[in-house]
Amino acid sequence: LISIRRLNKAYGTFTVLHDIDLDVAEGEVVCIIGPSGSGKSTLIRCINHLEAFSPDSTITVDGTRVAPGPALAKVRAEVGMVFQSFNLFPHMTVLRNVMLAPMRVRKASPEDAERKARELLARVGISEQAEKFPGQLSGGQQQRVAIARALAMEPGVLLFDEPTSSLDPEMVGEVLDVMRKLAGTGVTMIIVTHEMGFARQVADRVIFMDAGRLVEAGTPAEIFDNPREERTRSFLRAVL
Ligand code: ATP
Ligand code: MG
Repeated sequence: LISIRRLNKAYGTFTVLHDIDLDVAEGEVVCIIGPSGSGKSTLIRCINHLEAFSPDSTITVDGTRVAPGPALAKVRAEVGMVFQSFNLFPHMTVLRNVMLAPMRVRKASPEDAERKARELLARVGISEQAEKFPGQLSGGQQQRVAIARALAMEPGVLLFDEPTSSLDPEMVGEVLDVMRKLAGTGVTMIIVTHEMGFARQVADRVIFMDAGRLVEAGTPAEIFDNPREERTRSFLRAVL
């Protein structure tokens, strides 16, 4: 579904990503872990070209090459994104937030968009909040709205950038539960996370990044119980 080849990115003379190769198959759940500044956010932001990258690198999503130009809209419709800060529209109700993109981008009728939005709000467990505004919701509820909003476009893959790290501890579980449920229903997901327990439980594959390189990839058991690389071991010693 996603293929990344020799991905390089630099800010001026500072190289943020070095020769990253990564393939993600349909239905796969990939968790990306690694220290702060290792390039995790930059990597996933390259997938829908929120960040530009070196022109000799290639990323394809569902066969479409990610590059500036007319094909980018197709890629972005295929790739949903959930951020650490929920980025909801504060002046719109929860329901409207979820209805907006399908109506604007997919030209869905208001009736269809609303039906779909209510279905998704039920799926993330917040049907009762549909008529409220984001500011009236807890952080965990807002993040679940953001997930419903991303799902409303029926993306082929969902990217998450530390979806729980701005939440109060008691809200983390409810968001991880929703993500766990999505993983169980075959949604393709790439998740940058510091929640090692979650990664171990939910990931098909865990990727460890350090200093802009993909250091090691493997099953949760391989990475957490038997890492090959010393850098992976020392990172895990520090965080576990
Ligand atoms: P964190 O866990 O803290 O979110 P990360 O692994 O997501 O870290 P990135 O945000 O991808 O790391 O950043 C990778 C590197 O790129 C860091 O060294 C960062 O300082 C640098 N960087 C990010 N954005 C810019 C920018 N706009 N200009 C210059 N350097 C940047
Ligand atoms: Mg980051």
